[in-house]
Amino acid sequence: MLQTTLFVPTLKEAPANAEVKSHRLLTRAGLIKQTASGVYTYLPLGWRVLRNIEAIVRDEHDKRGCSELLMPALQPRDLWEESGRWSEYGPELMRLKDRKDRDFLLGPTHEEVITSIVRDHVDSYKKLPLALYQIQTKYRDELRPRFGLMRGREFIMKDLYTFSEDEAGLDEWYSLISEAYTTIFNRVGLETKIVASDTGQIGGKTAHEFMVMSEVGEDTIAYCNECDYAGNQEFNQLNDGDACPVCSGSVSTAKGIEVGNIFKLGDKYSKSMNAHVTNKEGKRVPLMMGCYGIGISRTLMAAVEQHSSENSILWPKSIAPFDIHMIPINLKDENLKTMNAIYETLSEDYDVLLDNRKERAGVKFKDADLIGIPYRIILGKGLKDGKVELLNRQTETKTEVAIDSLKATLKSLI
Ligand code: ATP
Ligand code: MG
Repeated sequence: MLQTTLFVPTLKEAPANAEVKSHRLLTRAGLIKQTASGVYTYLPLGWRVLRNIEAIVRDEHDKRGCSELLMPALQPRDLWEESGRWSEYGPELMRLKDRKDRDFLLGPTHEEVITSIVRDHVDSYKKLPLALYQIQTKYRDELRPRFGLMRGREFIMKDLYTFSEDEAGLDEWYSLISEAYTTIFNRVGLETKIVASDTGQIGGKTAHEFMVMSEVGEDTIAYCNECDYAGNQEFNQLNDGDACPVCSGSVSTAKGIEVGNIFKLGDKYSKSMNAHVTNKEGKRVPLMMGCYGIGISRTLMAAVEQHSSENSILWPKSIAPFDIHMIPINLKDENLKTMNAIYETLSEDYDVLLDNRKERAGVKFKDADLIGIPYRIILGKGLKDGKVELLNRQTETKTEVAIDSLKATLKSLI
């Protein structure tokens, strides 16, 4: 793609309200733009990264037997009356009326809608298990929207709902999706810790959160350095140097960003909303449900927070907006043909962004650092001798490569 046709409004200065590095970078690199407090536009570069994250999420769900659908953001009050949440949910719920004065809301989550769909179409264990997910915009009137995409009032979430005939079926989904989440976050370039968020009461609901360790996180996690135990410090009360309750190894504490969570709902919604099936024994039982969320836009933010320095992003290859950034420097007209030929050939195999702007080298490099594409090809003086410079931003190695062997060299890298 030509950089002149891609809208990338980079900025020298971050907006004053950008308190954390990832917010400053996403804004300065032209990936997002604030439209209202906690409400953002994903500009073309940001949207490309989001779609890459979504593709990984879809892949890992689809191959585990989950089906994608899309439910409406606009939901009628009566469904929420059925579950009891119209009155329970509180001021985070975005409520509105239509012209006939009927109450609606903008979905902060979709348990009610999905339960109403499944109860109408599934009446027997023979149609189970069922796992339905969507990637959708959610609305929550957060008390303190902050840190850019981290806590928005409008944000993108993947929400999955599973339906089983009994608890054993739910448990199976729960561990399958837990494992899927670890894989998803690894593929996105994020290491996560799984934190139990139940309070341990017998009969209490089971839930786990997926945390990316980061100083800008809102929770404090106490985790073991030897085994994979991790817990929210609020609940486990552990401090640095304490003994791990599982293996007695030493515990450390760090802040964490919650990028996803999984929750055994059990029959909470199926009972109140009357979603029953006939089980193998011929008995009517409420569906056993699980719900599983990933903050897609928050994951984008966490990825930038982890993979950046103050003035530059370095995307993990898996989610980078482009594979290769081609930067011509002061090219004479007679070299433009070579440049275009390289661009065309590389574009056959890779997503290539060609900085064809009439800007000084310094401006181009600064923007390229900000934007963070992992491989850079610089076309300068060497071009007349058939050579370009290849910068691997991960290893920070710059090598001169003959144009003829460029494809082979890239193949070994990307
Ligand atoms: P939090 O404790 O951060 O408010 P939550 O428990 O309300 O999260 P869920 O309702 O389980 O979150 O939503 C699933 C995922 O959606 C969360 O794990 C998080 O990654 C993301 N998420 C939740 N609220 C927001 C928000 N306001 N902005 C961006 N992402 C969010
Ligand atoms: Mg919340």
